[in-house]
Amino acid sequence: MKTDELREKYLSFFQSKGHHRKASDVLVPTWDPSVLFTPAGMNQFKDHFLGKVKLDFTRATTCQKCLRTGDIDNVGRTAYHHTFFEMLGNFSFGDYFKNEAIAWAWEFLTDKKWLGIDPARLTVTVYKDDGEAFEIWNEKIGLPTGRISRLEEDENFWPASAPSQGPDGVCGPCSEIYFTLDSGKTVEIWNLVFTQFNRVGNPPDNLRPLPSKNIDTGMGLERTASVLQNVPTNFHIDILMPIVQAASEVCGVPYLYESDNGRRLRRITDHVRACTFSIHENVYPGPKKARYVIKRLLRRAVLDGHQMGLREPFLHQLVPVVAQMMKAVYPELSQTTERVSQVMRREESDFFATIDSGLDRIGRVFNDMQSTGHVMVDGQEAASLYQTYGVPPEMFQQIAAEKNYTFDWDGYRAAMGEHGKISGGGGMELFETGPIETLKEALQHCEFLGYETTKADAVVKGIIVGKPKADHLVGSVKTSQSTEMTRIVLDRSPFYGESGGQLGDSGQLVSPKGTFEVTDTQRSGELIIHYGTMQSGELKEGDLVTAQVEESHRDAIRRAHSATHILHHALQKTVGRHAQQQGSKVDADWLRFDFSNQEPLTEEQLKTVESITNDRIKDAESIQWQIVSLATARDSGAMMLFGEKYPDPVRMVSIGEFSKELCGGTHANRTDEIEMIEILAEESVASGIRRITAVTGKRAVEQRQRVEQLAEQSASLLGCQIANLGEKTMELVMTIRKLKKMASGTGNEAIPALITKGKSTSTTENYTATRAAFKQASRAVNVAFEEVPLRIEAMFDEQNQLYQQLQQISSGGGLSVDDLFSQAEMVSGTQMIVAETPNANAGMMRQWIDQLRKRSSEPIAILLANCADDKVTLIAGISQTLVERGFSAGKWITPVAEKVGGGGGGKPDLAQAGGKLPAKLPEALQIAKDTWHSMLA
Ligand code: ATP
Ligand code: MG
Repeated sequence: MKTDELREKYLSFFQSKGHHRKASDVLVPTWDPSVLFTPAGMNQFKDHFLGKVKLDFTRATTCQKCLRTGDIDNVGRTAYHHTFFEMLGNFSFGDYFKNEAIAWAWEFLTDKKWLGIDPARLTVTVYKDDGEAFEIWNEKIGLPTGRISRLEEDENFWPASAPSQGPDGVCGPCSEIYFTLDSGKTVEIWNLVFTQFNRVGNPPDNLRPLPSKNIDTGMGLERTASVLQNVPTNFHIDILMPIVQAASEVCGVPYLYESDNGRRLRRITDHVRACTFSIHENVYPGPKKARYVIKRLLRRAVLDGHQMGLREPFLHQLVPVVAQMMKAVYPELSQTTERVSQVMRREESDFFATIDSGLDRIGRVFNDMQSTGHVMVDGQEAASLYQTYGVPPEMFQQIAAEKNYTFDWDGYRAAMGEHGKISGGGGMELFETGPIETLKEALQHCEFLGYETTKADAVVKGIIVGKPKADHLVGSVKTSQSTEMTRIVLDRSPFYGESGGQLGDSGQLVSPKGTFEVTDTQRSGELIIHYGTMQSGELKEGDLVTAQVEESHRDAIRRAHSATHILHHALQKTVGRHAQQQGSKVDADWLRFDFSNQEPLTEEQLKTVESITNDRIKDAESIQWQIVSLATARDSGAMMLFGEKYPDPVRMVSIGEFSKELCGGTHANRTDEIEMIEILAEESVASGIRRITAVTGKRAVEQRQRVEQLAEQSASLLGCQIANLGEKTMELVMTIRKLKKMASGTGNEAIPALITKGKSTSTTENYTATRAAFKQASRAVNVAFEEVPLRIEAMFDEQNQLYQQLQQISSGGGLSVDDLFSQAEMVSGTQMIVAETPNANAGMMRQWIDQLRKRSSEPIAILLANCADDKVTLIAGISQTLVERGFSAGKWITPVAEKVGGGGGGKPDLAQAGGKLPAKLPEALQIAKDTWHSMLA
């Protein structure tokens, strides 16, 4: 049986048993802090199990895309483990229980109409204390006792070992179904979990029956397909073998099951599938969390390729094959193959660029370890390898493990300044507990009224005080407790809780007896939570309040939110369809918008994006929303983001004819309410992701005025037209650079013409030209907009100081060649001059040495010294005749330089040195004299 057929059969079987067929949840549920990737089918139903949401159905069936990082090391080694795999499941929320779950599983597996597996091939396990399940298998299904094993809590309980070790909360026994292979070995294909208990504290008597019992099952799609197709591993089934073969072709090595390369090709197959699905969902390789796992998987696959001799990116070529194999259920993959391949290719080439050096260094580490008898890889070394060559520590550990070396994780984390786990699910709680969760169970839902109104009456349903983890529900709250952050939940509310990037509302909850100031609003599941403090009086549970959103703040947020939709449209139009939203933050007249694009936008593109957005704003298009089915939204061409979870039906926001987005946010009524958008910055946030920051409404208008003001101020300082601002600023920068060079004695050009400070006001340009010119100026001086005029002022000062300094130098600081020559001393038939030359620079000193050599008729040796800015410059020169007699200026200068704490060198006839200890100069000059005497002696 083909895998696609199996998937379909499973879903239709359970549909025929009254289950709702639900779509797979996304692979990376960014809204669920307890997991990085969806680990099982039940993940999307956690709140259903706990009765924390209103149930529209009590039976569901899904085929869920899953990723388990815990199985990474098994991939390629065992026949039945993947990181990415699909899990079929059927779920009951307080509906049917063990009897039906077991009977249906058996029917689906063995009935000829469905899978028709020979019952003799199946065995099961039950939890040792679950007599009920044992009986059903034995008596109702008729499975002989010899084919039912009773296992311990570490094997057959969910969560594993929950009775004795926790965590507290819902849990239950499970029953696994195994298939016996031709070889006699068994493989687990299906796990039925019976969540029937609430664990309360430690044993004994700690498992309390739940009033409403649930069923959660998971059948491995690939495992069951491999059994039905009678192939040796999951990788040999119809939807995976073509990827293995394509990998073998791309890598140019034959696929041999038992070989090392066979294992590598299987690992590549698994990892490329995981990476394709994740990148498709806009989760790119990166430094943290899910992104880091993807980076690791991708690099691991590249290493496998490298070990088979590849030196160029190859993995990305497999993306279309993955899309092809998975198209029956995930046709959307083929819409993004190009983007996904590009992202993958870039990450591959980054890694290929450093992998050889990285592996070299690993080799050296191993050699050192061997010669010193160490068996643990140094964590600091691993950290440096990750930072320099991008070798993920897990990969290093794996390579080390092949040599039986251990790995110093503590040292690694300390070196990285990390506490806790980098990417694992450490410390994450599967089920949260606390007062908010209690309220969810009681209320399930809080009606949001904020699309229609900003003011409404509501009833206080819950008051929570205290910091997270130490928080609790209270019956009332008074002003005297006003320093404490308080959270209030109402039965309904016009306050928007932060979500979809839009920040929460602020405002007030007012009753005749008290006023609560709301500073922020958040959402938790379907509850709206008002954060704030009591401003006066008292509020009690059950009180009727008027909830009043602060309108001006909400309006500013609405403007910014509508502007992001228009900006998205403008980006798609200007940059391309791939420039899709990757995230956003919407605040009062301020927004941040992240989108996919490999390169920075050009000035031209940015200008176009901004002007399209502003044109649409001026057009005064109407902004409307309606609730439609997901299918209708898709048909009408609404923008759908992969990896985003949309409810069905869904809220669709349309602007004129040009923008349709699925969005729960609050919006302006017409685009001209936004007034104007002004883009502040465009920058990179992560590989392949760019970020635009912008302001709207009054803030945009003010920003423009500020830029105009600053540009005018700068232009008038420079005495130029605004249009020439960039050039003129650059001229000033260059002039200062030249002057500095001359002052340090390295340049030998003429003193450049100085830029004169202007006084006139310049003519004004149109805004975009003004901003472009001003941007150039700000880049030339490399400071933020606000600081440009100040910086220009400072540069004028600097220019004048440098000029004065140069004037002093060129006048010799009061010294002349004659003055210096008169200081000459005869030493064994040579002239010696050792002198300090204040105010000179190196260029000047060299010129003097030249002139003195020409002036003297006898052989001459000159050493000049100068201090400036706490630095000592020493230059020594001797006549050509002395060089011919074997003397060297370099040798002469060395002990002198040492005395002033420095060093230097040069040719025999001319040497230069520097030092850091001006206070030692008198002693150093004495050494110069003594050295010359002893050199001639
Ligand atoms: P195993 O012990 O074999 O790793 P498990 O106990 O972790 O399996 P469950 O968590 O019960 O598995 O998941 C339900 C089903 O999902 C399993 O019966 C199996 O068919 C499938 N499954 C679990 N992990 C993987 C994996 N890494 N790759 C492929 N299928 C898997
Ligand atoms: Mg497992």
